[in-house]
Amino acid sequence: MPNKEIPAEWTVLSMLEWGTNYLKEKSVNTPRLSLEWLLSHVLECKRLDLYLKFDRPLTGDELAALKPLLLRRGKHEPLQYITGSTNFFGLEIQVNSDVLIPRPETEQLVEIILEDNPLNVTPKKVLDIGTGSGCIALALKANRSTWQVYASDISEAALNTAQLNATNMKLEINFFKSDLLRPAFPSEIDALDIIVSNPPYIESNESNEIDAEVKNYEPALALFHDNVASVYEAIIRLAEKKLKQNGILYLEINQKHGELMKRIFDAKGWDFQLLNDYNGHPRMLKCTYIKST
Ligand code: GLN
Repeated sequence: MPNKEIPAEWTVLSMLEWGTNYLKEKSVNTPRLSLEWLLSHVLECKRLDLYLKFDRPLTGDELAALKPLLLRRGKHEPLQYITGSTNFFGLEIQVNSDVLIPRPETEQLVEIILEDNPLNVTPKKVLDIGTGSGCIALALKANRSTWQVYASDISEAALNTAQLNATNMKLEINFFKSDLLRPAFPSEIDALDIIVSNPPYIESNESNEIDAEVKNYEPALALFHDNVASVYEAIIRLAEKKLKQNGILYLEINQKHGELMKRIFDAKGWDFQLLNDYNGHPRMLKCTYIKST
């Protein structure tokens, strides 16, 4: 098996080939991409620039830096945790195993909120429930600097990461700790224009259907709940207290839950719109609260 042999000299190309093979043997998803990602992280260059450096030898220090990263990827740890960050809506967001890795679907949710609220509209007062890394709150604040943005999470560790991200980006977000099912919100959080949330929406008993890379490394608290409907009902209860008349609730949902959501929101008399993600799956909700008088 020639490509299992250790190359005589480590260059960008020989490492890409050898490492890709190593990750293939460990049945890691996207082995070549993983290698490119890790190597460009160590060499502090863009992934595509590796293609201009194929013959560049790797130094002892670079090899030493790469080895532990490659071993972690070999155990199927997500790349974003290994390199410590990911891009979300043009922002470099730091992530670790205390927070969910921001997903493209969630970027789409942000995009919808921004499209609904162009730059020149009056500033909004917004709450992001279950903020995790802070990605939604940060992307909104980065693009609408006059908005007042609050963000909550049940996890102290997640809030620390979110605050770190906000500090790094010099964005002012008011973070606070709160359990959605037993909310304790500062009194200033009232008469909100917008509530947004990407809550845990996978039923705990369906965790076996989830990719091992996600299940073994991402925080269960952010992914799973024993009763997902109760999570949404808690969000609605909160929204009915905290949104102003015609305020809007934006939610990311499980693609399986379109019908469930329709039942829940119809019963509450909310105006309700189900939106598809780029893959054509119902994944987002836009709900307008019309207070009964
Ligand atoms: N989109 C995530 C996944 O499918 C789940 C996020 C969530 O539960 N809020 O892995």
